[in-house]
Amino acid sequence: MQGITILGSTGSIGINTLDVVSRHSDQYRVIAITANSQVDRLFQQCSEFNPDYAVMADEAAAQQLNDKLIKAGLAIDVLSGVEGLIKVCILPQVDQVMAAIVGAAGLKPTLEAAKAGKRILLANKESLVMSGRLFIDAVRDNNAELLPIDSEHNAIFQCLPSNYQKEGIERVGVKRILLTGSGGPFRTTEINKLEQVTPEQACAHPNWDMGKKISVDSATMMNKGLELIEACWLFSTTPDAIQIVVHPQSVIHSMVQYIDGSVLAQMGQPDMRTPIAHALGWPDRISSGVEHLDLFDVAHLDFEKPDYERFPCLKLAEEAANISGTAPAILNAANEVAVDAFLNKQIKFTQIAKIVDMTLTKITSQKAENIDIVLKADSSARQYAERIVTETGNGVSY
Ligand code: NAD
Ligand code: MG
Repeated sequence: MQGITILGSTGSIGINTLDVVSRHSDQYRVIAITANSQVDRLFQQCSEFNPDYAVMADEAAAQQLNDKLIKAGLAIDVLSGVEGLIKVCILPQVDQVMAAIVGAAGLKPTLEAAKAGKRILLANKESLVMSGRLFIDAVRDNNAELLPIDSEHNAIFQCLPSNYQKEGIERVGVKRILLTGSGGPFRTTEINKLEQVTPEQACAHPNWDMGKKISVDSATMMNKGLELIEACWLFSTTPDAIQIVVHPQSVIHSMVQYIDGSVLAQMGQPDMRTPIAHALGWPDRISSGVEHLDLFDVAHLDFEKPDYERFPCLKLAEEAANISGTAPAILNAANEVAVDAFLNKQIKFTQIAKIVDMTLTKITSQKAENIDIVLKADSSARQYAERIVTETGNGVSY
C-alpha cells in the first residue's frame, strides 16, 4: 500500500489524481489532501476519501473545515498554513506527493518533499522554473524521485531510455527534444484582435480542461515557455536542444528525436489522468479511466512553427532560460501577477507580455544560489509588476 499526499486536491490536477487513485484503492491510500480556501470541496473530498489529514492554506478556512468535520463525525486532523502543507509532505507514512498547487505557493512544500526523499509527482512546474538547480540537487542528495506530470514532460520521459538520468540525454543518443503545444485558443485569431480578448475566451482551451492560470498561460503560450525551462531542468539540457512544435490536435504529447533519425512520440487523449496514472504506477502501468485513442477519429496530425509575434511570452521565456540565475523566477513572478490582473479585468491580454518584459528588464538576474535569493527575486518582481498593474489602472498606458 502506497501512502499519498495530494497538494492542491481541489484543483483540476488534484481532482484527476483522486479519480485515478479511487480506481486503485487496494494499492493507494490518501494520507492528506490540501486546498487554499475551498472549504466545501475539501470537506466533500474528506467525506469521500477519509484521509488522516486535511490542510487549508488559509487559517479561517481551516477553522471552518474543522467545524464541519466535527459536526459530520469525521476524525480528520485539520492543519493550516505553509507549515501544515510541509508537514503532510514529510510524514513517514507518505510515499508519494502529488505537487499540484498552482504557482509559487507550491515551492516550499514540494522542496521539503524532495528533502524528505519522497517520490514527487510534479505538476507544479512553477516551482521548478523558479529554483530548478536547488530542486534537482535536493532530489539527488536525498534519493527522492521526480516524475513529471506535465503531459509533455511525461511524454518525453516515456520516450527516453531508463538510463538517461545516469548518462545524460546526449550519451543515450538524443539529438533533440520536440516539445509540442496546441497553440491555445488564439492560434488563428487576428493579431490585432488579441487586445480585446476576455478572460472567458482565454480560458476556453480547445483541447484541455484546466485551472484558470494555466489556461491563460496556454493562451499566451507562456505555458510553453515555462515548460521549456522545466524541460531543461528535468532532462538536464539547454534550450537549444529543445524545439517547440505547435501541434493543434494535442494527440502527440511530445517527442524525442535520436541521432539515428528515429523520432519517438507518446500519444493519447488530452486527459491528464494518463500522465497521472503513469507516474503513480511507474515503473508499472495502471489503468486511468481514459478513453482509448482511436486514430481513425483523429485522422490528421498537423505541425506548425511557433509564431513569436503572436506569442511574445514565448520569446521572453526563452530569454529568461538563456540568462538563467534568478531570471526564470522573475519571469514567473511577473507572469503570475499579470495573469491574475488579467483574470480580474485590470489589464488587457496583450499587457501580460508587456508587464513580464518590463519586469525582466527592471529586475536584474542574480545567481540562484539559495532559496532566499530566489524568494527575494520573486518578491521584487511581484512588487514591480504590481506597481505597473496599479499604474495601468490609473490610466498610464503601456
Ligand atoms: P487549479 O487552479 O485548478 O488548482 C490549484 C490548486 O492549488 C487548488 O487545489 C487550490 O486550492 C490550490 N492553491 C491555490 N493557491 C494556493 C496557495 N496559495 N496555497 C495553497 N494551495 C493553493 O490548477 P491546476 O490546473 O490543477 O494546476 C495545478 C498545477 O499543475 C499548476 O502548476 C499547473 O501549471 C500544473 N499543470 C496543470 C495541468 C492541467 O491540466 N490542469 C497540466 C499540466 C500542468
Ligand atoms: Mg503541459
